[in-house]
Amino acid sequence: MTTIHTMTLAELAQGLNKKTFSSVELTNHFLDRIRRFDKIYNSFITVTEDTALAKAKQCDALRAQGKAKPLTGLPIAHKDIFCTKHIKTSCGSKMLDNFIAPYDATMVTQVDDAGMVMLGKTNMDEFAMGSSNETSYYGPVKNPWDPLRVPGGSSGGSAAAVGARLVPCSTGTDTGGSIRQPAALCGVTGLKPTYGRVSRYGMIAFASSLDQAGPFAQTAEDVAMLLNAMAGFDPLDSTSVDLAVPDYTKNLKASLSGKVIGVPKEYFDKGLDKKVEACVQDALRVFEKLGAKIQEVSLPSSPLSISVYYVVASAECSSNLSRYDGVRFGYRCQNPVDLTDLYKRSRAEGFGDEVKRRIMVGTYVLSAGYFDAYYLKAQKVRKLISEDFKRAFETVDFLLGPTAPTPAFKIGEKADDPVSMYLSDIYTIATNLAGLPGLSIPAGFVNELPIGIQLTGKHFDESTLLNAAFQYQQETNWHKQIPENCL
Ligand code: GLN
Repeated sequence: MTTIHTMTLAELAQGLNKKTFSSVELTNHFLDRIRRFDKIYNSFITVTEDTALAKAKQCDALRAQGKAKPLTGLPIAHKDIFCTKHIKTSCGSKMLDNFIAPYDATMVTQVDDAGMVMLGKTNMDEFAMGSSNETSYYGPVKNPWDPLRVPGGSSGGSAAAVGARLVPCSTGTDTGGSIRQPAALCGVTGLKPTYGRVSRYGMIAFASSLDQAGPFAQTAEDVAMLLNAMAGFDPLDSTSVDLAVPDYTKNLKASLSGKVIGVPKEYFDKGLDKKVEACVQDALRVFEKLGAKIQEVSLPSSPLSISVYYVVASAECSSNLSRYDGVRFGYRCQNPVDLTDLYKRSRAEGFGDEVKRRIMVGTYVLSAGYFDAYYLKAQKVRKLISEDFKRAFETVDFLLGPTAPTPAFKIGEKADDPVSMYLSDIYTIATNLAGLPGLSIPAGFVNELPIGIQLTGKHFDESTLLNAAFQYQQETNWHKQIPENCL
């Protein structure tokens, strides 16, 4: 029997419309699952039971008056990087363990206005720096497919919570892969929209030229429904783009006949697990069956993307994180002897190791004497990476490849080797450097662990990606697989 938590967002919306259940019942069902199972997964930092039930009640009343919108009464969880008024926003850090934001992030307001019910805030790598969720001050998140393994990061809590069916959908942020990589490792669908598509206002900054918010859900259709609510111009975000928001659910059923899919040859290098590669090849056959044509393309600068990213992202984070000084908000050390001591100890005690590593790298590459050799050079290579994509998109409609080189690795396996950890984003990072949209969808299992394929599109062409993913999900059932202990 289909139980509530195995249903997609679209199915839950129908159930609410048909009065099979109320929003209060739905909310209680998922809150109960969080209470029972999140002891294992640790995917939530804060559960907002009271406000959720109050909102669900309001939603049921609106529905009774005939005023329900497509997402009214449906549960969601937000990554704990989005500011939420009167509710703790920790960003996975001791630094912000005591931080209660005085306002909501624009994206949180949009989702709230669309009628969704927030169940809580999800666990994440500290300041979104990581690929395994092991850098969180609140402890690691466990992968629902194998609790000894990582869920990916940095939005690992959001991906694991959907994977374990503790919530039907969630939000995350992606600076170098943090929506797509955990989506792949947890067997869910996750979209990083085009840079500028979703507001960054009230989303705690890591690397401002790369950060972008996006949704996690079970299917491309659900993601399209969510993007309808999240996308749009925001005058409060100077990098938000003033472009009409299409109805992302409209184009899902379009035929793929004649579409050209580019397969970047650089993505099939020696770092890619052979079994993951076989799944990608199988997926390409499905797309061919759907009428698409496959064409090899080259992104010659893409092997440089990790190096460029760790210069650019670290530089930006060293600047963004200078605001945490123990003075205005966040952690403050005990009994400082003077101002310098206050700064030094508040930062030394409030930040974890990975965050400090990034701040030091960033400060170094921006310092006089090194700026030209590192930061400036990285910006130049970033431009080459963008041009590679531009060239590829002259002949193809979208790109397809693996999301991550391997399935989920063991907790602790890469913790002492940051560079090997950084390599898990090898296929996702270039997308951020070029500001393009990227979508990860489940595409098979390797050693009983889910893996994902990544679809990369032209700027603001999320519709093409969602259409292709929707069609693929009509032909396959990888996205319907649920860990046995979560049924
Ligand atoms: N894993 C990458 C990092 O640690 C990307 C993180 C992200 O996308 N927020 O920087």
